[in-house]
Amino acid sequence: MEQGSIPSPHILIFPAQGQGHVNATLKLAELLSLAGFKITFINFQYVHERLVRNTDVEARFSKYHGFQFKTIPVCRPDDPQRTERWRKLSVKSKPIFKRMVIESKPTVNYIIGDGVLGFVHDVAVEIGIPAIQMHCLSACSFWTFFSIPDVVAAHQLPIKGIPTIICHPFLNDLFIPFNCITYGSNLLKLKGKEDMDRLITKVPGMETFLRCRDLPAGFCQVSDISDPNLFFITNEIRKSQALIINTFEELEGPILSQIRTRYSKIYTIGPLHEHLKTKLRSIGKQELYSSSNSLWKVDGTCITWLDNQPSQSVLYVSFGSSTIVTRDQLMEFWYGLVNSKKKFLWVIRPESVINQDGDNLGEIPEELQEGGKERGYVVKWAPQEEVLAHKAIGGFLTHSGWNSTLESIAAGVPMICWPYFGDQQVNSRYVSEIWKLGLDMKDVCDRRVVEKMVNDLMVDRREEYVKSTARMQELARKSVSEDGSSSCCLNRLIEDIRLMNK
Ligand code: UDP
Repeated sequence: MEQGSIPSPHILIFPAQGQGHVNATLKLAELLSLAGFKITFINFQYVHERLVRNTDVEARFSKYHGFQFKTIPVCRPDDPQRTERWRKLSVKSKPIFKRMVIESKPTVNYIIGDGVLGFVHDVAVEIGIPAIQMHCLSACSFWTFFSIPDVVAAHQLPIKGIPTIICHPFLNDLFIPFNCITYGSNLLKLKGKEDMDRLITKVPGMETFLRCRDLPAGFCQVSDISDPNLFFITNEIRKSQALIINTFEELEGPILSQIRTRYSKIYTIGPLHEHLKTKLRSIGKQELYSSSNSLWKVDGTCITWLDNQPSQSVLYVSFGSSTIVTRDQLMEFWYGLVNSKKKFLWVIRPESVINQDGDNLGEIPEELQEGGKERGYVVKWAPQEEVLAHKAIGGFLTHSGWNSTLESIAAGVPMICWPYFGDQQVNSRYVSEIWKLGLDMKDVCDRRVVEKMVNDLMVDRREEYVKSTARMQELARKSVSEDGSSSCCLNRLIEDIRLMNK
């Protein structure tokens, strides 16, 4: 795509390793490419290898003039402690990245680094290149992480009665570069623990509804104030003076107003997938759109199965790319779903299921595969955007990852939230309590609760949820239309990058 004769600025974009980060950031890269910028998209090598193995990403992006991929050849550090692994990854990557920027031809004019990769911003500052952090988190979870020092100063942390987090060594082999956490059975022990329902009143704008259990798990739900995880994300996200956030004004206006008290420049340009789709349609290039930036092989057979189901009759179940469940939890979901008598399409990554000893099962339990044929359909990885947009889908049982939440909102699909860790705990609180787009099942994994919530969402309270999700879907669409809030923010970002390079 040629964009005229004036040399266009060269932007370097570097996402973190997670599926959600890569997905959202690639969509931003496409939008900026369409605006005429030269883009270098950097991935950690092991992430890029998976992307290339499972998608046609290189062929697809070769259609964008001046677009190139580069990789940082670092291995996953294998420290058992998450922050330590992350720190080592940063320490190893930083000099390689810095050299790459200095030696780059054409010269790098602007850097967009993932909000959780603080070292990217540090390099930009050291070399003196304008830069910004891109947040693949919701504004509400960004603001929660941001406010943690005030929560601590007010002695609202630690939380009494948090069990020790169990780490499972096999997770080292997954692509996520830190030891993930199995809350699994631990969470069940928390049921009824009073302290988890205590209000946290020091996150401005959330004084009346944010409880200890809604704080980012694995990071801020700590029983010891000296836990190194507590300030980890807070320190990473606070590096830049301006922010890009994958959200939209109509969804998170009140919290964005709070963030504006601390930042003068915020570009809210989401939902990015919807934004890109709309932009491509407006220039007659819709065939360039692909939802697939997957690190797993997509199983499209579920779409044929959905084609044969009645309208809004199927519950889509997926816990994203890094959630781990125990076999017992899986069976609670299974019985809850079957007993609800609703049909379901369930994504189960084989490496996501562990037994009581924490060992990976490596396969989907047989009874699910067999029994599933009657009521449901099980796949290892689905084309999620297409699934959510399918007329047969009536609800989404989700881990509340931010991309999944935005994709569900843009498709007008109500949610049952079962958050696993990090920002997901805050997102699910907002989905249920503030946006009224679904139900929050956090910290519970019981077949009776699953059955009841599925029936509430799909039958008993359906009308209420259909109304609120349709309204928010409309607002999401408007935000990315020509004069919508997210379009205007993207135009402002493009203009500001150009002005910086005049
Ligand atoms: N996804 C997908 N197929 C699946 C499950 C997930 O394509 O079977 C995509 C989903 O559309 C989303 C991303 O993976 O864009 C997951 O990102 P999210 O932020 O929701 O959660 P994470 O996996 O990062 O925890």
